[in-house]
Amino acid sequence: MPQPKTRVVILGAGFAGLEATKTLRRAPVEITLIDRHNYHCFQSLLYQVATAALSPADIAWPVRHILRSQENATVFMAEVIGIDGEARVVKTRAGAFPFDFLVIATGAMHSYFGHENWAAVAPGLKWIEDATRIRRGILSAFEQAELARDDAERKRLLTFVIIGGGPTGVEMAGAIAEVARETLARDFRRIFTEQHSSYARDTLTAMGVDVMTSSPVLQCDERGVDLTDRRIEAGSVIWAAGVMASPAAQWLSAQQIAPVAWLFAPISRFRASTIYS
Ligand SMILES: Cc1cc2nc3c(=O)[nH]c(=O)nc-3n(C[C@H](O)[C@H](O)[C@H](O)COP(=O)(O)OP(=O)(O)OC[C@H]3O[C@@H](n4cnc5c(N)ncnc54)[C@H](O)[C@@H]3O)c2cc1C
Repeated sequence: MPQPKTRVVILGAGFAGLEATKTLRRAPVEITLIDRHNYHCFQSLLYQVATAALSPADIAWPVRHILRSQENATVFMAEVIGIDGEARVVKTRAGAFPFDFLVIATGAMHSYFGHENWAAVAPGLKWIEDATRIRRGILSAFEQAELARDDAERKRLLTFVIIGGGPTGVEMAGAIAEVARETLARDFRRIFTEQHSSYARDTLTAMGVDVMTSSPVLQCDERGVDLTDRRIEAGSVIWAAGVMASPAAQWLSAQQIAPVAWLFAPISRFRASTIYS
């Protein structure tokens, strides 16, 4: 009688989960790869989808297709909701998956540092859905600005606040500035008539980005953000200020260590950038 194969369950089809699966390609194990999406997302290019430079299909590949030649791997699209360590079972909304070995590679998610209600007005950039939502917002701000008859309203609509000055925030600011000045400027008639440190700041400033560091955001809403010393009226607010680990520790009833962004929160948690075209 053939021995049952060792069951390896891998959670998450991001870079880590896919790499773990591929590494076990020749191992005598039965791999089950579970992800809430049926595609692998190349997150580094999300901001280009958010600014319409790329389409979602350019940065998302079906996981089944990627692994179709790997015979010891089976892919399931399911949302993980818990892990029973004693029974060695992963719980998902689509049922339970028993394992001998478990690899948790569920990545990170947005952290609004306790202000979860801000998610409604300041979308973060982590998934394809976030990128297309931000893209809709940016393009519709340009359309509304073209229609606006009032200068103040036009300026508000063409102000983009990005909360967070890390890599995502800097890339996002640069991409919006580029799309505004290089691409959309040629498509709109009325709205362009007037007008890592220090390298990132200088480059962004040269592109028309107003970089404000040490500017904690106290509150954000559909029409802008409040800083400690002023309010910025804005048509779009984008969250790039922080992430936290997926709830894997909670699933395992284990202690979760605070994310790095949170540890450094007092000095770099919130930064705001505005773009005036
Ligand atoms: C906008 C942006 C730009 C970036 N740019 C760069 C860059 O230029 N260079 C660089 O090195 N890094 C960059 N990164 C970071 C890089 O993308 C991440 O470090 C990397 O994706 C982490 O891989 P991961 O496999 O750990 O997690 P992820 O890629 O986040 O994958 C986690 C997977 O787990 C799945 N998952 C999560 N929770 C569940 C659940 N409950 N049930 C089922 N499935 C679940 C998700 O659907 C996802 O597929 C960027 C990230 C972002 C967001």
